[in-house]
Amino acid sequence: MNWHARAAELTIDGRALINGERVWAIAGLQFDNLSPVDGRLLGQVARCDSLDVDVAVLAARAAFDDRRWAGKSPAQRKRVLIKFADLVQQNGPELALLETLDMGKPIKYSQSVDVGATANCLRWYGEAIDKIYDEIAPTPSDSLALIQREPVGVVAAIVPWNYPMIMAAWKIAPALAAGNSVILKPSEKSPLTALRLADLGLEAGLPPGVLNVLPGYGIEAGAALALHMDIDCIGFTGSTRTGKLIVQMAGQSNLKRAWTELGGKSANIVCADCPDLDKAVAAAIGSIFFNQGESCNAPSRLFVEESIKAEFLAKAKAMLPQFQPGDPLDEATVMGAIVDATQMQTVMGYIAKGRSEGAQLLGGGEAARLDTGGYYVQPTLFDGVDASMTIAREEIFGPVLSVLGFTDIEEAIRQANATPYGLQAAVWTSDIGKAIRTSRALRAGTVHVNQYDGDDITVPFGGYKQSGNGRDKSLHALDKYTELKTTWIQVG
Ligand code: NAD
Repeated sequence: MNWHARAAELTIDGRALINGERVWAIAGLQFDNLSPVDGRLLGQVARCDSLDVDVAVLAARAAFDDRRWAGKSPAQRKRVLIKFADLVQQNGPELALLETLDMGKPIKYSQSVDVGATANCLRWYGEAIDKIYDEIAPTPSDSLALIQREPVGVVAAIVPWNYPMIMAAWKIAPALAAGNSVILKPSEKSPLTALRLADLGLEAGLPPGVLNVLPGYGIEAGAALALHMDIDCIGFTGSTRTGKLIVQMAGQSNLKRAWTELGGKSANIVCADCPDLDKAVAAAIGSIFFNQGESCNAPSRLFVEESIKAEFLAKAKAMLPQFQPGDPLDEATVMGAIVDATQMQTVMGYIAKGRSEGAQLLGGGEAARLDTGGYYVQPTLFDGVDASMTIAREEIFGPVLSVLGFTDIEEAIRQANATPYGLQAAVWTSDIGKAIRTSRALRAGTVHVNQYDGDDITVPFGGYKQSGNGRDKSLHALDKYTELKTTWIQVG
């Protein structure tokens, strides 16, 4: 497909979606939506603020109170979500193109990963709706106690820019499946696919007011949602810094339930008895450079046992040319553009810090494709990293891998855990006992053994410590968007 030709024909609708209608912000403000692919202006987007939040909350509350969605039978709600998933799949090329233009990821992955995972998530929660049973408690025989899940009410979902569609789907699919009304705020850096998703949700049969999308800045629309007195629950994905603010704002307003999926600095531990060194190298390199390194679960700290480190790094270095950034609209490209100029400066700042604090640059380290007007960074590999260095401690959120050596697995585990984060981790070993002991000792929401890319909608995703609370994906995500109601009936 000629994606450049399609991009030239694309029309962008940057209006918010409230109560089933596309509308501009009440205050009339807009912001420029720039593409990191080449820096060009894609269009204007509504800059929603507290005025729009108030209107969206009224619409979402009305939709919840009159039970136009929660009151439908589970089978009816299931049909709507499955149709929603089908429409995402049918409109896949347009959604993929919007995602690539908006945040810079390669079109190859926008199509094969982001569109597919979004549709799959909607379909999976749709399928689940009429297969979940409530409970009866084992009370004495003179009573009957029903334990039922009820929707929590009006849910705000605030999501980041690195997987805009997937992050939106991870929130809206379980929240809608449970019967809630939702107000979604996409990142100001990547608002386009969230808006198109909501159009498709309406087309699939979601009643007006059930899914609203408010594009805008975090400190305006985002904070107004977190502080609102009539929102029952907030599902947030983003940085740990913002996550702390969200929890504070929830507490400072109506104590809305606040769920956070935050940053990471995941450790990947490769032992000398790793069963397949080539596979371990390919996974370490492929996982850190996938999505330009802009993944919360990127294995950005690589611990390699000293006896195999030289061989490992020679193989790793040989893979770097495969990940040179290319045109995101070229289907052969595997690494695209960094989301914007600010994020590129942040990444380049970390690379400069790595150099100045004494890490050894084995490859990359420079910006790339500067003539395009877009934002690109070479895949960057640092050896000789010490646990005290900034690049070993802070989330970079870019294509930068920090390599640390170890001789004792206990020491590697201690260092792997010596971080405020706890999203994911991995261990590579042929010794099943060592794998299980290490996995038990690692304080992370997911531990991979002898692979890094295992993933499925059926498993929970989320972090320990300052990587957040609660879990996205799997049936466990429904816990976030439901209340448990006990009905105690005296039988006699
Ligand atoms: P961010 O925290 O800057 O922004 C996330 C969202 O919060 C955006 O929609 C933004 O507009 C909004 N926001 C910002 N300030 C706000 C405020 N004061 N009040 C309310 N809302 C506000 O994060 P980002 O740069 O968009 O995303 C990158 C971060 O997301 C990384 O730390 C990454 O690890 C994390 N992330 C985590 C997961 C996960 O599942 N754990 C998944 C993807 C990304």
